[in-house]
Amino acid sequence: MQTKTVRVGGLSIGGDSPITIQSMWKKPLTGLDQQLVAEVNGLAAIGCDILRFAVPDMASAAVLGELATRVSIPLVADIHFDHKLALRCMDFPVAKIRINPGNIGAKWKVEELVRKALDKNVPIRVGVNHGSLPRHLARENDPAAAMVKAAEEEIETLESLGFGNIVISLKSSDTQSTVDANRLFARSFNYPLHIGVTEAGPLIPGIVRSTLAFSSLLAEGIGNTLRVSLSDTPDAELISAREILSALGLRKKGIRLVSCPRCGRSGFDVHGFLSKTMGRLMTLDKNLTVAVMGCVVNGPGEARHADIGITGAGNKVMIFKRGELARTIAEEEAIEVFFAELAAM
Ligand code: SF4
Repeated sequence: MQTKTVRVGGLSIGGDSPITIQSMWKKPLTGLDQQLVAEVNGLAAIGCDILRFAVPDMASAAVLGELATRVSIPLVADIHFDHKLALRCMDFPVAKIRINPGNIGAKWKVEELVRKALDKNVPIRVGVNHGSLPRHLARENDPAAAMVKAAEEEIETLESLGFGNIVISLKSSDTQSTVDANRLFARSFNYPLHIGVTEAGPLIPGIVRSTLAFSSLLAEGIGNTLRVSLSDTPDAELISAREILSALGLRKKGIRLVSCPRCGRSGFDVHGFLSKTMGRLMTLDKNLTVAVMGCVVNGPGEARHADIGITGAGNKVMIFKRGELARTIAEEEAIEVFFAELAAM
C-alpha cells in the first residue's frame, strides 16, 4: 500500500522506504552513562533502526534528550497523560513522540503539544491499543472496528490542528484482531503503519503470533515499520524481526543463518557453537548465508550452498567457503578459525 512518507530522524517510514525495525528500552531511564550509550549502539548493531523509551517523568525526558545527542539511531519518546513531558522532549533531538491525544486531557494541552511538534518538525505516532481504548469504544463488539474508530478520532484531532506528520499503530494481543484492524485502516487512510501484536507473550509464543500477523499484513503490502513485542530482551525482539523480514524477502542485509537441529549423529556441538557466536554473528555488517551443521549427512551439502559453512566430520570440523572445502581443523579451534575465515570474506 502506498502511504505518505514520514521522516523520523535520519530515516523515513512509509512511501517507498524499506521497512524499519523497532524495539523498546525495557528499563527506567535513571541516568546517562557510557554503558547506556554502548547498549543502545549495541542494539543498533543487531538491526534496531528506531528505539522507543518510556518517559514517565521530567528526569527521564532529560536523560532521553541527552542520549539522543549521543547515539546515531532515532529515539522515540513514549508519553501518556502529561503533555509537558512531550514539550520537554522536543527541546532535544528526539525523533518522534508517541502519544494518544485522547489521554492528554484538555484541548489546549493537545494544541500546545501539536504547535511545538509542527515548529520542531517532530512526527507523532498515535498508538491505539485494544487494551486501552477510549471508554466509549471499549465495549464495541468488533475490536478491529473499535481500534480503527479510535485512530480516526485521534487523527481528526491532529488534522484539525493542521498536523499531518503522523504514524499510526493499531495493536491487539490477539493476532487476528491486529491483522483485521490494520487491513481496515489501510483501506481508508494513507498514513504509514507501525505494525505489531502487542503483549505478544514470552519468546516462542510471541514470535509465533507476531510472525503470523506480519506475514499476512506484509504480503498485502501493509506495514511500514514493525516491532515484535516480547516478554524478553530487545535483542530477541530485534533478531526475530530481522528473521521475519529476511524470510519474507523484505530485508536483504545481514547474516542469514542455516543450522541443523542436531541429532545422535552429530560430531560437532552445533548448539554450543551457536550460543557462543550468535551475538557476534548478528552484529556483522555482511550480507552472507552461514551454515552451522552437525555431521556429514547434510553438513557438507548445506555448508557448500552457504557462503561459509562449518560442519562436524568425524572427530574433525570442516569449513567450506563459497562451495569449496577451505579448512579441516580440530573442534577446539572452530570458533577462532571460523571467524578468521569469515572476516576475510
Ligand atoms: S546434519 Fe547430521 S547432526 Fe545435523 S540433524 Fe542432520 S544428521 Fe543430525
